[in-house]
Amino acid sequence: MIKSFEKKIDDLKFQIELGVTETIKSNINEDFNKSDLEDNKITNDYNDLSEIKSLEELKSFIENYDKCELKNTSRSTVFCDGNSKSKIMLIGEAPGNQEDIEGKPFVGKSGKLLDKILDFINITRKNCYIINIIPWRPPGNRNPTTKEIRQCLPFVKKHIELVKPDILVLVGSISAKSILDTDLGITKLRGEWHTYKDKKLEIPSLPIFHPAYLLRRPTSKSLLMKDILLLNRKIQYKE
Ligand code: URA
Repeated sequence: MIKSFEKKIDDLKFQIELGVTETIKSNINEDFNKSDLEDNKITNDYNDLSEIKSLEELKSFIENYDKCELKNTSRSTVFCDGNSKSKIMLIGEAPGNQEDIEGKPFVGKSGKLLDKILDFINITRKNCYIINIIPWRPPGNRNPTTKEIRQCLPFVKKHIELVKPDILVLVGSISAKSILDTDLGITKLRGEWHTYKDKKLEIPSLPIFHPAYLLRRPTSKSLLMKDILLLNRKIQYKE
């Protein structure tokens, strides 16, 4: 068992060393400032989601939403992937080119790396549910603006409310800051559990480095693995 785990770690190191190359376009915004959102408190003033009672209704609402300009420049509305009955929900940032083509989150290079990392603790798309903060690809993979995040965050909150996962995994800085409503950066937030609170919901939430971030900071690889093991302990032993 330990041997096979060690082998997997070796494999992962190998994959990261070999697989994380310039082909993953890193657009991770570590400078995103949550306080930029403050002037425009996240409200549903531009849309009313209170009537939405199912994922199908939410999907159709977002597909028909025309106030976010990103929609005009993207091919797909990337709503989700995986199993909505799963207890684990991963929240990424925004679709890239491949996600825009396929209409699913995390199917490009960084998604493949994420799959490999999660596979260590036997998480696959059959037993987790994946969404993004932003459902449309920002042109040229630029970072989403605070306005775009503000527009889309109520969709994410509604999505969480409908799925009611036991655990949230916040992939990358924008996801972590937006969901935890904090200005702290991912390097401060990662490594421990936080709580997402909304209405009556309180959900343990683990911020992790975005796979594309590994490109820039090779030292973060072992920290990411530590966080994945933290996630595993929560799943296995509810620690
Ligand atoms: N990066 C993200 O944050 N989400 C995706 O779906 C793809 C890349």
